[in-house]
Amino acid sequence: MSPVLVWFRQDLRVADNPALHAACEAGEPVYPLFIWAPEEEGAWAPASASRYWLHHSLAALDAALRALGSALTIRAGASLAAITAFAREVGARRVYWNRRYEPAAVERDGLLEQALADAGIDARSFKGGLLFEPREVRTNAGEPFKVFTPFWRQCLKQPEPEAPLPVPRRIPAPARWPASRVLAELKLLPRVDWAGGIRQSWPVGEAGARAALDRFLAQGIDGYAQCRDRPDLDGVSRLSPYLHFGEVSPRQVWAAVCARELDAGRMSLSASAAGYLRQLGWREFAHHLLFHFRATPAQPMREEYAAFPWLDDAHQLECWERGRTGYPIVDAGMRELWTTGWMHNRVRMIAASFLVKDLLVHWRHGARWFWDTLVDADLANNTLGWQWTAGCGADAAPYFRIFNPVSQAERFDPDGAYVRKWVPELARLPDRHLHSPWRAPDDVLAAAGVRLGAEYPHPMVEHDLARQRALDAWQRMRGMRR
Ligand code: FAD
Repeated sequence: MSPVLVWFRQDLRVADNPALHAACEAGEPVYPLFIWAPEEEGAWAPASASRYWLHHSLAALDAALRALGSALTIRAGASLAAITAFAREVGARRVYWNRRYEPAAVERDGLLEQALADAGIDARSFKGGLLFEPREVRTNAGEPFKVFTPFWRQCLKQPEPEAPLPVPRRIPAPARWPASRVLAELKLLPRVDWAGGIRQSWPVGEAGARAALDRFLAQGIDGYAQCRDRPDLDGVSRLSPYLHFGEVSPRQVWAAVCARELDAGRMSLSASAAGYLRQLGWREFAHHLLFHFRATPAQPMREEYAAFPWLDDAHQLECWERGRTGYPIVDAGMRELWTTGWMHNRVRMIAASFLVKDLLVHWRHGARWFWDTLVDADLANNTLGWQWTAGCGADAAPYFRIFNPVSQAERFDPDGAYVRKWVPELARLPDRHLHSPWRAPDDVLAAAGVRLGAEYPHPMVEHDLARQRALDAWQRMRGMRR
């Protein structure tokens, strides 16, 4: 008998799980294992919202495994020590896992693979979290890509992603299960329960992922191209936390979208379906960049931006975090984030741009706040999103394209439904004043019950002046370079 350990990390699912599938194929007892080792994540250990999600995701995984006659064993501490001790305990000589791409995880896994080999344990890793391996997609010169469109074109020239693997019919179980930590001992849940809004917004786990995907395929995907930028509409898939924790694989999403197109009688992808798969491409690109440019969570990809003259006003940062900037669309987004652990992509771009350009607060502070509050906090996607917004990343927007929070709001939340939902103190303002209450006449404000500086703040900066100040700062940075 040669049992196999399956080390679960960001692949908390039983369907389309290559490591689990390979272990089951071996026909020997399989031990599903999770190790809580936050100190091995470098500066990016799972933070508040992620820990909440992780707790429930592990509970859901354990339930799914039990339904297949297996169970999750939970351990804590250094991964290498935990795996070798566990392997010794159960007599396993094989350990399987699905690959991760964050710098700390890549380094840890490399060392671990070597150490396990030295201990006579066969370690095998699988592609379970991406459609395309970052190592395999290269420019003609053999370099990593830094621009999205050619990257995605090259991905689409690769062999089509394989069909997803089924849920194992049975997971071979050992005669006796080793001791496991109780999930509650990991203390992932907050002591003061602030997570009510997240609880109401998200069914965590593989079944929740499947339901979100099915709902999107039935109701959202056909309108994706038209609606994806509208935070007031239900136009996006909201799959990001499920993809981050691996409760659904990108391959499952890819296959489901293609099958849905075939069912609809289309011989080629509609613009909406292709546009949606392209967003999965941005996720691939983010992981590609993080894998090849490992310093980017802390350092700008474009080095000249290291000299950017940030102001970093702590009070302004706090007003932004709390959703009290005086710009309704920014505040709506920050409050949606605080309440539900998620924010619509268009609003992420507006809110992030406001922080780094209107307030001149370093993008790293914004990235850290998102890291703490997002249920989809993902080092690759978050780093890309912030560096893109700040103009210092790969394929970033040109610095001088500075989002105007009022015109963005008027365009993408035209009836104000999004702002009214998250900033209820402004709800009674007429549409034409909702996105810029400081321009409303006094009698209009009074009739809507709004006192600026009381129920709702005055805008903390004047956008046109702030925009000019940002452009001046950018010119100074460029001057420093010369
Ligand atoms: P959909 O529009 O339905 O897209 C489907 C999937 O494609 C998403 O779930 C996601 O996995 C991927 N995707 C979509 N847009 C992007 C993108 N721009 N970059 C990378 N992948 C993308 N996404 C995260 O998952 N985690 C983060 O920590 C994160 N931080 C961000 C920070 C900033 C400043 C910005 C501007 C964007 C950030 N994003 C992040 C990207 C994007 O906002 C979210 O992936 C998206 O809003 C998730 O909603 P959805 O699942 O409904 O997306």
